[in-house]
Amino acid sequence: MKLEKNNNLVVDQIKLAFEGAQSVGIVTHVRPDGDAIGSVIGLGLALLSIGKKVQMVIPSGVSHTFRHLAGTELVQKTFESPCGLYVSVDCADLKRSKGLPVSSSFDINIDHHITNEKFARYNLVSPDAVATCAILTDLIPQIGAEINRDIASALLSGIISDSIGFRTSNTNIDALNLSVKLMRAGADLYALYNKALINRPYTAAKYWGFALARMQKQDGLVWTSLTLEDRKNSGYKLDDDADLTNVLSSIEEGRISILFVEHSTTKTKVSWRSVPGVDVSVLASEFNGGGHPAAAGAELSGILQEIEKKVVDRTAAYLHSIAKPETRGNSELMNGVAK
Ligand code: 5GP
Ligand code: MN
Repeated sequence: MKLEKNNNLVVDQIKLAFEGAQSVGIVTHVRPDGDAIGSVIGLGLALLSIGKKVQMVIPSGVSHTFRHLAGTELVQKTFESPCGLYVSVDCADLKRSKGLPVSSSFDINIDHHITNEKFARYNLVSPDAVATCAILTDLIPQIGAEINRDIASALLSGIISDSIGFRTSNTNIDALNLSVKLMRAGADLYALYNKALINRPYTAAKYWGFALARMQKQDGLVWTSLTLEDRKNSGYKLDDDADLTNVLSSIEEGRISILFVEHSTTKTKVSWRSVPGVDVSVLASEFNGGGHPAAAGAELSGILQEIEKKVVDRTAAYLHSIAKPETRGNSELMNGVAK
């Protein structure tokens, strides 16, 4: 991938910053997905390979889905000692950032969210990139590190999960070229794809079942919720969406799909997905969240039923305000876009 022109200077600055640093700390966003985890591990292993002291910090740990990645064992929950340089990967804003020691600030911010707030000294932000791992695949050789099999596996996992297996509308030639490069470096596409997207526990499908049974649809909008009770009844152990957003976004009647995940009796996570041409990052920002035009989220305080009503009403009004395209092009049938 060719990084945008105005990013060339930033890349040079980042190269110099890494050269001058002995110790580097890497963190990412709360509830880290495959791109966040792959970015922390991929960059972390690369910096270790060029002799840096590295601390990779994910307070919630590496989720079960990605624990097969080499380098997982090096991920810590907190920093053991201060670092000379702090790097944020795949995180759009400081509100979502997790693990940075108090009174420290970010030197480097590497991300692909259009809503990125450029909060670091050096901000390498490429909204065209399918994943932060794609940006890193380009950057890592430029900082003098060779992409070995373990680094390649972490990075390819991030590209696979953010592009939902190369099917989001922002899956471009760069994404595929970079993936080929990672496969040449030894990453096993079949195995990583299965781990990231296909294999799931039986309880996850049971959990979906409750939500799908009460799914609703109205004028191009499809939505449902996963409640605390559903989680208990299904036996699903994690507090994520069990990948149900991807299922909802595949429903062809929906121009926007919304999933509500009840995290506690006072907090609910909202995930929007949309077809190309419908920008849900605007909606997420209205609710203090953010993300990409076709995939965005927010965490709201309050009771699930009230949040659901408020968000559905606002989203329906928003959808109504957008003129419908005259024909529904093929690309529009391919819902969803990278996280
Ligand atoms: P998801 O719905 O899968 O959690 O997230 C979709 C996209 O929106 C991801 O890029 C994610 O980083 C972003 N996102 C989700 N929740 C929030 C949030 O509360 N704040 C911000 N700024 N971005 C979010
Ligand atoms: Mn990402």
